[in-house]
Amino acid sequence: MGSIDSTTDRHVTADTSNDITNGEEFATRQLHAGYDAPTHLDSSSVPIYATAGYDLRNATRGSRAANGLEPGTHLYSRVGNPTPEVLESRLASLDGGVAAVAFSSGMAAISSTILTLADHGGRIVSTRDLYGGTFDFINNLLPALGVGVDYVDKVDDEDQLEAAIGPDTRLVFLESVSNPTTRITDIDRVAEIAHRHGVAVVVDNTLPTPYLFRPIEHGADIVVYSTTKAINGHGNAVGGAVVDAGRLDYGPDNTVRDETQSAQDAATPRYPQLNSFVHNISDEAHGQRRSFVDAYGRKAFIQRLRLKYLRLLGAEPGPFESYLTLQGLETLDVRLDRAVSNTLTVARFLEAHPHVTRVDYAGLPDSPDHALAERDYPRGVGTVLAFTLEGGVKQANAFIDATQVFTYLTNIGDSKSLIVDPARTTHREFNADQQRAIGVEPTTIRLSIGLEDSQDLIADLERGFRAVYGEE
Ligand SMILES: *Cc1c(COP(=O)(O)O)cnc(C)c1O
Repeated sequence: MGSIDSTTDRHVTADTSNDITNGEEFATRQLHAGYDAPTHLDSSSVPIYATAGYDLRNATRGSRAANGLEPGTHLYSRVGNPTPEVLESRLASLDGGVAAVAFSSGMAAISSTILTLADHGGRIVSTRDLYGGTFDFINNLLPALGVGVDYVDKVDDEDQLEAAIGPDTRLVFLESVSNPTTRITDIDRVAEIAHRHGVAVVVDNTLPTPYLFRPIEHGADIVVYSTTKAINGHGNAVGGAVVDAGRLDYGPDNTVRDETQSAQDAATPRYPQLNSFVHNISDEAHGQRRSFVDAYGRKAFIQRLRLKYLRLLGAEPGPFESYLTLQGLETLDVRLDRAVSNTLTVARFLEAHPHVTRVDYAGLPDSPDHALAERDYPRGVGTVLAFTLEGGVKQANAFIDATQVFTYLTNIGDSKSLIVDPARTTHREFNADQQRAIGVEPTTIRLSIGLEDSQDLIADLERGFRAVYGEE
């Protein structure tokens, strides 16, 4: 099977590969995409390249490689290693993007993506219904780094989104399925509005994974992941990834500018940093000055992400973690089919329980998002759900302590079922009012449903209810 998309040819000017799926279905690509065994000594399993550097063989080749003129050559593993590169190509294929970059964590992928587009004095539009770490980054760290934030309550509301987008807005950030309440968004609508202004749509698609939902097919420009969750699926490696659809609107060329200039004026394109001269992708000795858009065309964003943020902030994924993630990814569709079915069974059980005041799961017919879920998530919205108990913190604590099959653990997407109290763990970054606004009460409990027998999961939850409210 041939390699589907080479993310290692770092100097592509024109890119004509529109179909990187090789015509194969998802289940085949999750096992084979991006890996060509003959170029890896015929190893059937993706090798773990445990090396920091690469033999450059001779001085001529070394200097050509350092200038990006030897496609496929590796220099140093902080910038590229063959094991994570298979993961990158595979994820790009599964999501329908032109290229991907893997990171050592989801947070590295998210923070680097936002900065790649919004540095040099940009602003972002964001929802507040976010993973706690992402909210902490956007709310508290981004403003300190000179990037402005404009929040919207409902990002697919045309009036709200139109009002929030200004001349300096570089991207709209949202989660396709929010954590923990599984609210979903009409991404086609968000993309239509944002693209009127040439603004990128960045979607954190961690909860559904590309098996349940592919944001690029709904107009998103960039998809970010914590691969730690369902993509890995076994809770044994932290990782992240960014997939680029390759269709950002880079606006008029402005290569004469220097990448350190940031002044905005009417003639400035929306992403000045991608249209400005950059020394280390130019050949100044031969009078050639290039911007990322000149050098990489529609891969300009993803190449700046790799060559500036991955390389300089240094959040390269390790080859061993990438190997574990690739192994987990091989069974993504079968794991999710089983876990989604279990999640619906558990959600229905909780919905009928007298001591549960609310169940948040967009897969339930009573959910306010159910119509959108039916339209955009025909295979289900995922394996995370939240429910709220009668009582207070004491009751929530007793419930968690009584369960035995569920592990009390701040992760999601594992093959084993997990339970957590978001108000005191994963969503601690939000104050009480902010928590309430996104549906997190002191007695809200989040479940991540795994692959156990669903009757054992229900029996375990009944154990929790008995411990808190007694026999009934
Ligand atoms: C876990 C998570 C993250 C952060 O990813 P890490 O791999 O833990 O850095 C970001 N977004 C969502 C939706 C998550 O669930």
